[in-house]
Amino acid sequence: MPLTLHVDAARWREHVRGYVEQSATAAGKVVVVPVTKGNGYGFGNSVLAAESQALDVPTLAVGTYGEVADVAMAFAGDVLVLSPWRPWNDDVLGDERVVHTVSRVDDLRELAAAAGESRPRVVVEVRTSIRRHGILPAELPEAVAALTGVRFEGFAVHLPLAGDHLSEARELAAAAFDALPGDDGRHLWVSHLEPTAAAALAAELSADVRLRVATALWLGERSALRPRATVLDAHRVRRGETYGYRQRRARRDGTLLVIDGGTAHGIALEAPTPATTIRQRAVALAKGGLESTGRALSPFRLAGRQRWFAEPPHMQCSMIWLPGDVEPPAVGTEVDLDVRLTTTTFDRISWDS
Ligand SMILES: *Cc1c(COP(=O)(O)O)cnc(C)c1O
Repeated sequence: MPLTLHVDAARWREHVRGYVEQSATAAGKVVVVPVTKGNGYGFGNSVLAAESQALDVPTLAVGTYGEVADVAMAFAGDVLVLSPWRPWNDDVLGDERVVHTVSRVDDLRELAAAAGESRPRVVVEVRTSIRRHGILPAELPEAVAALTGVRFEGFAVHLPLAGDHLSEARELAAAAFDALPGDDGRHLWVSHLEPTAAAALAAELSADVRLRVATALWLGERSALRPRATVLDAHRVRRGETYGYRQRRARRDGTLLVIDGGTAHGIALEAPTPATTIRQRAVALAKGGLESTGRALSPFRLAGRQRWFAEPPHMQCSMIWLPGDVEPPAVGTEVDLDVRLTTTTFDRISWDS
């Protein structure tokens, strides 16, 4: 079996559905907008599109215009594109199901002009302390005046992960709604709020809140997800013998294990760690950072421990060093691996029950 994401389907779906339903009942004005993008959080975008369809949510968000096609077949509702529209995205207009994010006043005017009569559906992003995209509060009146050529679907705020940013969301949203001429359009698209905080915000602002969420939804029940890989070969190696592309010399007797999963799957391709404390950094290093000696701990777990790469991973498989005193697993055995699900591409998903 290739690199496989084993999913305890019943438990995972119970968590996902529970998250959506809990948010909906919190105050009646919070709607979960599942997000899928990139590697589809280990599942793939089309799989999460089908799961979103089963959840019966009105909107699914994707990262880029290129990802709309990944989800458009399996998901029948609206598709929000999170990357802001730019004037060079002139080939993405005319799809009634697509909701565009606009983050500059000029783009709002250009989008309306490029779309002509079709009046595209638009969410206006307001800049938060992340400072990634978004118009400034001072530009709100100008932005609201430019809404005539589009169908306005609300304001968006993308909040930082660190700290409690409920008050930031509240202030930005209140300023944005104040700029609107009437009571219509009080829709707020937010990320990184707890469902209860989102419900409180909805009540305070007399708005409805669309809670964009991926990690807490898809990866929130991590114990229901088990990445596993198959042992393809096991070769006894004596001290002094050479192996691998680099022809390294074995320092002791041991076993070379060849296991499914290489750089093509994202194995050992670590994104920079978000760790900020020394302890977190030490943990990150121990979990797969490059050692100063050039050795690297692999994500593969054998006989209860993460094992060293024998050499850097190959494209589709990895060579792992197992010390001579550890009984090697039989070819065909599946072994566990500790990987980040946002950087790993699996060959298949196994829906276990
Ligand atoms: C990716 C993304 C999300 C989802 O983020 P998670 O932290 O995975 O829940 C929400 N909003 C925006 C704008 C995003 O880019």
